[in-house]
Amino acid sequence: MPELPEVEALAAYLRERAVGHAVQRFEVASFSALKTYDPAPSAVAGLTLTGAGRHGKFLDVHLGDELHLIVHLARAGWLHYRDAFKSAAPLKPGSGPIAIRVRLDDGSGFDLTEAGTQKSLAAYLVRDPNEVPGVSRLGPDALAVGPEEFAERLRGRNGQVKGVLTDQEVLAGIGNAYSDEILHVAKMSPFALTGKLTDEQIATLYEAMRAVETDAVTRSVGQRAAELKGEKRAGLRVHARTGLPCPECGDTVREVSFADKSLQYCPTCQTGGKPLADRRLSKLIR
Ligand SMILES: [Zn+2]
Repeated sequence: MPELPEVEALAAYLRERAVGHAVQRFEVASFSALKTYDPAPSAVAGLTLTGAGRHGKFLDVHLGDELHLIVHLARAGWLHYRDAFKSAAPLKPGSGPIAIRVRLDDGSGFDLTEAGTQKSLAAYLVRDPNEVPGVSRLGPDALAVGPEEFAERLRGRNGQVKGVLTDQEVLAGIGNAYSDEILHVAKMSPFALTGKLTDEQIATLYEAMRAVETDAVTRSVGQRAAELKGEKRAGLRVHARTGLPCPECGDTVREVSFADKSLQYCPTCQTGGKPLADRRLSKLIR
């Protein structure tokens, strides 16, 4: 799932490549992906892309002075920029991975696509980004908070640190992948309770969060400029590396289920050498 760094890279690319161009046609191929009906998609034609930004993991494409295309890419969604489209024919609804196509006046444009059968990409055409429920509920951006606000917000929601870090109402932008990385850098158990963290541990966690997210933004933006083939993550330490050696200590990276996903961690670096119990599994055995 694209997180803060990947969405930031997409916004940066759009600012560089697409801002200043007018929309020639806004085509909707997946009617379930577009969550709004007023303003109508036809209202977008003729509007100039005036900016691109991000609210947590939501991409915000500014259209003229009055509209925003807000996109949540969900698990398998992506934005593919095309210098040119092979065909001028409008998209056929309901077939293939393309949900929405935006054609610009220079012949270029972008497709919002979603792989797989579980369709959860969500796009909204709104006059104000806060009309999107997921946006209005967001906490401050992870990269916009200082150490004190970070500590305050983390302590304000007692729970397992993995869950609190990825709670978009606490901090916007951190997801499953980079929270694994942050906790590994901070050498902290994902199941540690935020209410029990010392000031020093919170400060360490804040530094780890800043380092992991800014580093990932730099890498993602660089990659995006070089090639726009799809989402690629390099340099991950533990996330999606189950069974591989920890780059820090050589122990084997392990996996445990968390909510409806799984998380990866290093027992030696993070949990005093003890593997975390898979709670769902132990419930089944009992
Ligand atoms: Zn390790």
